[in-house]
Amino acid sequence: MTTRAVSFWLNPQELSFQSEQELPHLADVVVIGGGITGISTAYWLSHLGLRPVVLERGDLACGATGRNGGHFVFGTNQSFKDSVEAHGLADTLALWDFTQQSAQLLRDLAHQHNIDCDLRFNRLVYLAMAPAQAQSLQESCELMMSHDLAVKYWDKKEVDQNTQCSSFLAATVEPHHAQLWPAKLVVGLAKAAQQQQAHIQTQVEVQAVTRQAEGFSIMTNQGEIQTKAVVYATNALSYHLLPTLKGVIVPVRGQAIATAPTSQLFDFDWCLSNDTGYAIQRQDGRIIFGGMRWKSPTKEIGIEDDSTLEPLVGEGLKAFLRDTFPPLNDVAIEYEWTGIMGFTADENPLIGELPGRPGEYISAGYTGHGMPVAIAAGKAIAEQISGSAQTPIPKPFRPERFLLT
Ligand SMILES: Cc1cc2nc3c(=O)[nH]c(=O)nc-3n(C[C@H](O)[C@H](O)[C@H](O)COP(=O)(O)OP(=O)(O)OC[C@H]3O[C@@H](n4cnc5c(N)ncnc54)[C@H](O)[C@@H]3O)c2cc1C
Repeated sequence: MTTRAVSFWLNPQELSFQSEQELPHLADVVVIGGGITGISTAYWLSHLGLRPVVLERGDLACGATGRNGGHFVFGTNQSFKDSVEAHGLADTLALWDFTQQSAQLLRDLAHQHNIDCDLRFNRLVYLAMAPAQAQSLQESCELMMSHDLAVKYWDKKEVDQNTQCSSFLAATVEPHHAQLWPAKLVVGLAKAAQQQQAHIQTQVEVQAVTRQAEGFSIMTNQGEIQTKAVVYATNALSYHLLPTLKGVIVPVRGQAIATAPTSQLFDFDWCLSNDTGYAIQRQDGRIIFGGMRWKSPTKEIGIEDDSTLEPLVGEGLKAFLRDTFPPLNDVAIEYEWTGIMGFTADENPLIGELPGRPGEYISAGYTGHGMPVAIAAGKAIAEQISGSAQTPIPKPFRPERFLLT
C-alpha cells in the first residue's frame, strides 16, 4: 500500500463552515483562525453572550490542529525541573494548574455537547535513551514527587518489561494524559459555538487589521468587517498580520506518520524525553508517531509550507519505529504529513491582550504543545473581552515578557 501524503486527522469529514451566505459587516469580536484556539475562543465568547465572527482562510483545523500528534499533555513544556529553575515553583504550578483546568473543560465540553473525538485518558511515559536523559528524568521526577504531583520512575528493568524492547534506559510515568482526534474536537466545538450564535466562516483570509477611532476594520478577501475587538488565533503565522511578532513566534515544521492498524503494542502514550519523538496508539491499533525534525539540515526552522514532506525526517520516523520495536518491522505506513508549529524562545505561548494595543488579543506560540492550553486560553481571553475575568493567565504566558508597550 502506498503512503498518502495527507494528515490522518483531516480524513473525510465536513471541515468547511459558512454560518451565513454573506459576511456580516459588524461583529462584537473577530477571531482570526479556525484551529483549536480560534474555535475555543469563539465557543467561550458566544457562551458569554457575545457574537463573535471566526474567519479562517482554509478549512477548520487545516493548520497545526489538524496535523498534530493527537496528544493532550498535562503540565509544562519544559521539564518540571527546568521550568522551576526558569520561572520559580509558584508559576510552574500555575502552568500545571492551567493545563489541568483545560483537561477538565475538555472533558465537560465533550460530554455536554456529545462531541465524539476519540477522547481517551491514558498514561504518558517519557523515555530516556541516554544516561544524561535518564538522570534528568529522575531529577524532575523527584522534584515533582516532593510537590505531590503524580509521577513514577521506571528503572531499566521496568522500562524493558513495559516497552518490550531494550532501547531505553529509564522512564517516568505520568498518570494524567489524553489522546484525541483534534479535528473532530474542533468541528464539535464549532457546531456548539454556532448554536450559541457564533458566526463561523471558512475560506476567508484576513488581509489587514486597522485600528480606528473606535474599534477595528478587518479587511478580508471577501470584504470588510467592523469590530470592537480582535483575537489573533493564527499560531505560527501570526507575524504576517502582526509584524512585531517576527522572531518572537517562529514557524517550525513538524512531521508525523500513521501506521496501519496493528496489534496493541502500548497501553500508554509516550514521548522521547529529549523531545525528538512522540507517539500514541489509538484504540483502532493505529500508531501516530511524530518528531525527528533534527534529521533535516534546517531542523525545519522557518519553514511555513505544510504541503510537502521532508524525506530525511520521514525516513527518520519510519526507521525509528522499525528499528526500536521489532513487531513493527513490517507494518505499513498509511499516512504522512507536515504541519507548522509556532515556537517561542522560552517554549511558552503568548496569551492575553497585546501590550499597548487595547482590544487586540492573542493566543499563539505553544511551541508544539497547544492542545492542553488552547481550551483554557480561549476561555480566559473570552472572559477578558467580556469583562468577566475568572481564569487567571499564568505569568509565564503573558505577552508583555516579549513585547514592550
Ligand atoms: C506535526 C505536529 C505535531 C504536533 N503534535 C502535538 C501534540 O501531539 N499535542 C499538542 O498539544 N500539540 C501538538 N502540536 C501543536 C498543536 O497542533 C498546536 O499547538 C495547536 O494546534 C495550535 O492551534 P491553533 O488553533 O493556535 O493554531 P492552528 O491550528 O495552526 O490554527 C491557526 C489557523 O489560523 C489560520 N490563519 C492564519 N492566518 C490567517 C489569516 N490571515 N486569515 C484567516 N485565517 C488565518 C490558519 O489557516 C490556521 O487554520 C503539533 C503540531 C504539529 C505541526
